[in-house]
Amino acid sequence: MLNRPKAILFDLDDTLISAYADPGPVWQALLSEHAEALSPHDPEELTAHVGAYAAEFWSDPARHKTWRLKLYDARREIIRGAFERMDILKGDPRLALIANDIADRYSARRDEAMTLFPDSHALLDHLKEKGIKLALITNGEAAMQRAKVERFELTHRFDHIQIEGEVGFGKPEEEAYHHALGALDVRAEETWMVGDNYEWEVIAPAALGLTTIWHNSHKAAPPEGKPAPHHTLEDLSGFWPLLKKTGLA
Ligand SMILES: [Mg+2]
Repeated sequence: MLNRPKAILFDLDDTLISAYADPGPVWQALLSEHAEALSPHDPEELTAHVGAYAAEFWSDPARHKTWRLKLYDARREIIRGAFERMDILKGDPRLALIANDIADRYSARRDEAMTLFPDSHALLDHLKEKGIKLALITNGEAAMQRAKVERFELTHRFDHIQIEGEVGFGKPEEEAYHHALGALDVRAEETWMVGDNYEWEVIAPAALGLTTIWHNSHKAAPPEGKPAPHHTLEDLSGFWPLLKKTGLA
């Protein structure tokens, strides 16, 4: 049985907006443009190393928190680190500049590729019309996240917008959820959390008593041995049947 929520907290990236699930092809295209300078390593091999290095880089929660607040620098750090590990940076000073160039162009391309998911605006507008209080809780840098909120016309769609870089705390810190609940003046038990990150938008909010909706936008395998979300959606269109069950659609 699904209770009608008083409020819903939404994540931003890969929940309401997204670029692409797999950054590999973009990395590979950019690495290919410098194939000569990077020879004898071929772009495919380099892409695999960058991907592995990035996965390791982001796997540590403390490092994640530090670097997601300066994402463009993080991408430079990842390429530099991957190249260093492959001994590519030894000898030729041009290669350090090439590494930065690849990282910066990756960032620009990713920003360009970012779009709204098809149902995002319709869903938010519908919920607002039904009187559901809405908050956006997003981790990351203040200017970068605020720019996306404005670019995708989300400001007026939310009663509360909470950006980690602006408030100084982020998911999965308990304060991130408590602060949003306080701002909307609702209790955890009457609130849903919607997002794609299993740690931040399923495990942490569920422990506080929120109902969790996992937007598995990249069709990931659910982690083993972790508490299940209350509901899983592969895209936002799956939200409408949930709302129907609560009389909200
Ligand atoms: Mg997300």
